[in-house]
Amino acid sequence: MNYTIDKSLEFANAITFKSESGVEYRLYLAETAPGSRLWTFGFQLISGNPNQKEVFGTIGLIQKLLLEKNGLIEKNNISEIVLTIDGKNRDEVDKKTKIFTRWIKSPWEFEITRNPVISIQGKMENIYLDTNLIHIKKSTIVEQINSETKFCFNCGTENKKDYKFCPNCGQNLQQA
Ligand SMILES: [Zn+2]
Repeated sequence: MNYTIDKSLEFANAITFKSESGVEYRLYLAETAPGSRLWTFGFQLISGNPNQKEVFGTIGLIQKLLLEKNGLIEKNNISEIVLTIDGKNRDEVDKKTKIFTRWIKSPWEFEITRNPVISIQGKMENIYLDTNLIHIKKSTIVEQINSETKFCFNCGTENKKDYKFCPNCGQNLQQA
């Protein structure tokens, strides 16, 4: 899966990209409050209808844009991120959460809060949202890098490091 990446808004922590099927997305990072050092990121569909096959590739690309050398996270010196995953129903929320979190690897750690409670000042009742809150933190403990497995860029399956092709989808795993 190839994407056309537009980094002309990177100075504002936004990157736009387009998939082969013409679906356009925008990824952006923002501090939750100025100076808080706690960041969140958003992911918007700008145009087109994404197909199911694109999901893994797109999430893999987001991960790459965030984590690559001199990417958004390194440039902003980010060590803590929160984001909410929403969806049409609980099943979709959990599915998206699973797809997203499988890409989170050491030194990053995450914690999921289901249906986070949002209190609104001046209101008596709390609001329960059908979302998952993912809290991602960079571990300060230096761990040995586990190089025994790698994830297929196309379908997300975890494979043995010496596999040449993904047994699930046939993707060539020797490409960068
Ligand atoms: Zn695969």
